[in-house]
Parts: sequence; structure tokens; C-alpha cells
Amino acid sequence: MFTHHRTEGIILRIRQTREADEIFTLYTKEFGRLDVIGRSIRKSRSKLRMNMSLFSYVEIGFIQGKSYNTLTDAFLISDFKRAKRVLGKLSLFYRISEVLLSLVYGQERDEGVFLFLLRSFQKIEETNLSKGKIELFFCFFSFRLLYFLGYKVYIEKCVFCKEEIKGEGYFNSKEGGVVCGSCFRRDPAGIHLKDVKSLQCFFGNDLEQIFNQNPKTFLNILENYLAFVPEVKK
Ligand SMILES: [Zn+2]
Repeated sequence: MFTHHRTEGIILRIRQTREADEIFTLYTKEFGRLDVIGRSIRKSRSKLRMNMSLFSYVEIGFIQGKSYNTLTDAFLISDFKRAKRVLGKLSLFYRISEVLLSLVYGQERDEGVFLFLLRSFQKIEETNLSKGKIELFFCFFSFRLLYFLGYKVYIEKCVFCKEEIKGEGYFNSKEGGVVCGSCFRRDPAGIHLKDVKSLQCFFGNDLEQIFNQNPKTFLNILENYLAFVPEVKK
């Protein structure tokens, strides 16, 4: 028996396969991460293919088979055309897709992640982003995504002595949290932060505050931390 489904989602990856098929990987509202095959889609000059461009927000119909899902129709909701024309924003879409697909690989519904992804794409479309802001937006997206997926970064207190840290501190990727100065002297591993509170803003919603931070510091923290998250596919 085949079941027909409808869902909305964002196309995060397109792979070409033998013949003229294409496999689309979407993050969807109803199914989480989802792969669908467009049969002979490269041969056709159909609207279906036009509507299924990379990083577009679409509503799709598909038939769930035993081992794969076959795309039947697609309706374009938004193609984020303005953002895609800006090279920095286009590369941000690529990086967001890459980090999401490296952290989420089973089909599991999570509407929170879907809405966060959609709002992030909309924000990128609407906002003027300098090079530094693009890096900070990527950090914001990744930290929040990790939070949604259950990787909470400990930013309230020192992971070792549980004392509150005022001002200067360190981020310890292995422990997944901040470390105070005296604990750091006993176990000197971590990235220096002038003010540990600056890391907290990445878990809030105030983009202006995030855009005031140093992109290099937080990219460094993010990359170090991702290396310690076990589920990340290398
Ligand atoms: Zn401590």
C-alpha cells in the first residue's frame, strides 16, 4: 500500500542520481528531515522542477513507498530570491543546511526546529548583513539549533565549581560550558572570553546584541564545541 502525504518544508540539499532523477533533502514541518525522489525530473521542463530549487520554501505532495518517497507535486511558497543573489547570504544558506544535516539525520518531527529554520531564512532575506554579521548569524543559528536538539551549553555557572562567573572566563568545549579563572588555572583548557555573559546572548533573540560581538571568538567556540558533539558526522 502507498500513502499520499502533504507537507511544507525547506529544500536543503539536491543530489543527482542515475538517469534523470534527483533526490531532495528537506526539513519539513510534519516529518522533520525528509528525502524525496523526483523521478525523471531533470528531463522535464515542468513546473515541478522549477518549484524545487535549492533553499526554497515549498509545499510538496509525495507518495510514501517501502524504501523511498516519490515527489508528486510542489507548490512554491518562497524562493528567498533576494537573499540568493547576495553571495554571502547564499553561502550562509549552505552553511546552515550543512550544520543542520550533520546534526539531524533521522526522520523525526520537530516543529520547533522547522519554525526556527524558516524564521532564520526569512530573517536572512530581510536583514542587511555585513561579513561579520553573517558569521555571527551562523553562530547564533548553530548554538540555538544545538539547544533545540538537547545540547545545552552551560553558561550560567562554572561547570566545575558551580560558582557564578562575573566578567572574564573560559569556554571549555569538552565540558560544554564556561569555566571560571581559578578552575581554569587547575585545568587550563578553554577559549578566553572577556565577558562570559556575551556567550549568553547567542541563546536569546536579540540579534542586535549578537551583532555587537566578535565573530572570530564565537566561530572559534562553535567549531571547538561541534567537534565534541558526538552526533556530528565528519
Ligand atoms: Zn570554577
